[in-house]
Amino acid sequence: MEAKLQELKKRLVEINDLKSAAELLYWDQATYMPSGGASARARQMATLERLAHEKFTDPAIGKLLEELRSCRESLDYDSDEASLIRVTQREYDRAVRIPPSFAEQLSSHSSASYEAWTKARPADDFSAIQPYLEKTLDLSRQLADFFPGYEHIADPLIDYEDYGMKASTLRVLFDELREQLVPIVEAITSQPMADDSCLHQNFPEAQQLAFGLEIIERLGYDFTRGRQDKTPHPFMIKFSLGDVRITTRVKENNLNEALFGAMHEAGHALYEQGISMDLESTPLADGASAGAHEAQSRLWENLVGHSRGFWTFYYPRLQEVFPDQLKPVSLDTFYRAINKVERSLIRTAADEVTYNLHVMIRFGLELDLLEGQLTVADLPQAWRERYQTDLGIAPPDDRDGVMQDIHWYSSTIGGRFQGYTLGNIMGAQFYEAALAAHPEIPEQIARGQFQTLLGWLKENIYRHGNKFTPSELIERVTGGPLSTEPYIKYLRKKYGELYSL
Ligand code: ZN
Repeated sequence: MEAKLQELKKRLVEINDLKSAAELLYWDQATYMPSGGASARARQMATLERLAHEKFTDPAIGKLLEELRSCRESLDYDSDEASLIRVTQREYDRAVRIPPSFAEQLSSHSSASYEAWTKARPADDFSAIQPYLEKTLDLSRQLADFFPGYEHIADPLIDYEDYGMKASTLRVLFDELREQLVPIVEAITSQPMADDSCLHQNFPEAQQLAFGLEIIERLGYDFTRGRQDKTPHPFMIKFSLGDVRITTRVKENNLNEALFGAMHEAGHALYEQGISMDLESTPLADGASAGAHEAQSRLWENLVGHSRGFWTFYYPRLQEVFPDQLKPVSLDTFYRAINKVERSLIRTAADEVTYNLHVMIRFGLELDLLEGQLTVADLPQAWRERYQTDLGIAPPDDRDGVMQDIHWYSSTIGGRFQGYTLGNIMGAQFYEAALAAHPEIPEQIARGQFQTLLGWLKENIYRHGNKFTPSELIERVTGGPLSTEPYIKYLRKKYGELYSL
């Protein structure tokens, strides 16, 4: 059995090498590649991805997994070996159902659609993108149909990002959350809006970048195993556990962007850097799900980075970096500014109270589209109506409406958004569990110390990588199932102090 396990591992590491090479090509494309390299680069990445897919769906892998089945059952469930066989089996079963020709069709359509979106959005021309989106919807349905027996057509697409989650359970969870959130938003927005003009002065790029780096290094981001570069859309990317990179963008008239963006991406990176080296280059060296990953980024960005304690420590330092801009601004004013709540149009710029309403609008529309309740032609209007109902504001155009997010224009419809809200919910659950184990964490944060929190996250979540499903992880870490309660409790407490709720 040992020899078979070694053989499986060897093959998986090879596949991982191909995928990592493709990732590096992507990173280069997003950061430093001259535009002339674009078409050859797209082909090079596709070649590597195809080779990786061919190697992974090789019947020899299926045979090895079959032969290892009995061995898996005799091993401890939590062991690296049992987990590797279990998770690889799951991914293998999924991969072999998708014909390579379909994967190629989806990939080339996604590139064409993304290209069209980059032109249609600035021109505010939804009709130019509509035929692409109709094809995307058609392909998304086809993709789901490779997994017959689903309860809802979105389920296979959701499952891919957030394993084990279903449209029916998410609907109940999100409805429950919406019911709680809408009155909180109403109560806050009926009061005078926080003044955040202090964040919109001129803040030179170099100082903003340096300050962001100083913060994330102190949070625990290891620069000997990572680096930060600039891109128009920030992201985290990993080539190995020893090389987990992040990107950022800077706006000189908006302090939020680089500052909290860096903490967000560093949160994703801390997760990956915290995975046990024993899992290196295997399918286990990954986050547990989209939601579990977003839970880490939101935990560091919001629960830590937007807390009063954090700025008790960092605000004097920030004032030193930007004395002209911030010396006249009190900590209180700054704290209220970074936590300003408002009904707004753009998801990525939304505050932590209204943010989930944006996500749930996308989620609901995805389900309606996939079910056939809504046509792509009617989507912009449906978008405006939902915004009016849920957020009390509607976009004047499609650029800042239905065309604002890249997701539907670069991949499938379905499964693309629930992870963001799951992340907020799970992040609050994890943080509550961390505080129960170490009540001293908030005081430490106010002294600029993050090791206890990071150590707890590593021990309980990060080191396990992809060993456990999201539900298993939540159960192990918090002792209970997924619940919106800690998140709502957190919002009520924090915003109850900021506003009279
Ligand atoms: Zn994220």
